[in-house]
Amino acid sequence: MRWRALFGPLALIALWGLAAPAQEFTGLARLDTAQSGVRDQRGGLEVELYLSQPVPWRVFTLDAPRRLVLDFREVDWRGASRDAMLAGDRAADLRFGALRPGWSRMVIDLAEPLVVDEAGMRVDATDGTAHLLVRLERASAEDFAARAGAPEDPDWAFLLRTDPTAPALPAARDDVLTVVIDPGHGGIDPGAEHGGISEAAVMLRLALELEEALARVPGIRPILTRRGDDFVPLSERITIARAAGADLFISLHADALEGLQATGASVYTLTDEALEEASLRMAERHERGDLLAGLNLSGQDDTVAMVLMDLARMETAPAGDRFADALVATFDDLGVPLNSRPRRQAPLAVLNAADFPSVLLEVGFLSSDSDRARLTSAEGRAGIVDAVVLAVTEWAAGEAALAPLIRQ
Ligand SMILES: [Zn+2]
Repeated sequence: MRWRALFGPLALIALWGLAAPAQEFTGLARLDTAQSGVRDQRGGLEVELYLSQPVPWRVFTLDAPRRLVLDFREVDWRGASRDAMLAGDRAADLRFGALRPGWSRMVIDLAEPLVVDEAGMRVDATDGTAHLLVRLERASAEDFAARAGAPEDPDWAFLLRTDPTAPALPAARDDVLTVVIDPGHGGIDPGAEHGGISEAAVMLRLALELEEALARVPGIRPILTRRGDDFVPLSERITIARAAGADLFISLHADALEGLQATGASVYTLTDEALEEASLRMAERHERGDLLAGLNLSGQDDTVAMVLMDLARMETAPAGDRFADALVATFDDLGVPLNSRPRRQAPLAVLNAADFPSVLLEVGFLSSDSDRARLTSAEGRAGIVDAVVLAVTEWAAGEAALAPLIRQ
């Protein structure tokens, strides 16, 4: 299974005049067919789309054949027609429709090399309608080809999925499920400690046993973020997972809550409240040029990055939730004790990745006698390992069943 596959290059993502948070983009935007059109302009081409409301969008070009691609959060195209919208010679053809659930795409075949000179969406302050304007100017074939290439950003590259106008890419999907196991803490950070036992050491042992068990399942490739008593920063753990092409990320922890009767396993996913913060941090980490392919968005970078992060999580967050639910179910089925509140959410930095589902599995509490006994015995850990392996395989089967719907 491959979440991040081969995608068309992206030359520009833009979001102009939108100060509102992404979660406000809910209803379906309708295209005003009377005003919208694609027309030759002196020295180039102009694409004007009038929408009933702003939507996250992006524009990029593809070479061989030369195309301009516009992606939107779902747009209602009813009433729009190719013939009515297309005027002039520089745009040879035009298609639009659903890309996949929640996404729409317009593809304009370019009769000559035209590069994006200017692109923006402005929102009418009085009626809330949006006006998307993309101006293209003539360029050499070499210039076009050079600009059609774009930096790969794994955080959102997978959003592009496939270009429906391009031939199917069989390599877009491999059959290996890469599961990244992240033993919490390590090195100078022992994590929780109780009775001479450290969380870091117990989690490493559990992770190594889980790795062994997962490696025995055909089609699963386990990867560990650390294999020794090493300190690995949280962001580095995500980087390791990303580099490995993670399909799933499981961080293993076992807290100690002295004086409290906390016991049993619980599974954390990222909270909604953390999304914005996580998005901001991600935005900070990206160089403007890295994210925006060199086009000046005059200080809009943070908004753009946040919207993109939110869009990315529209897919990975539900998948992570489904895996967290699967874990709780298999722990329950196999009789591994669960906490009284087994499903939790928290703003945990290690779950910040937008491009693959992430959960934090608190396997138990070192401060609980029964949990500690389970975690420090091979037999006890074997029960946990079995439950996690079962959850991974059941989840993967469910996601594979969903994949054709998502990928369409
Ligand atoms: Zn921990």
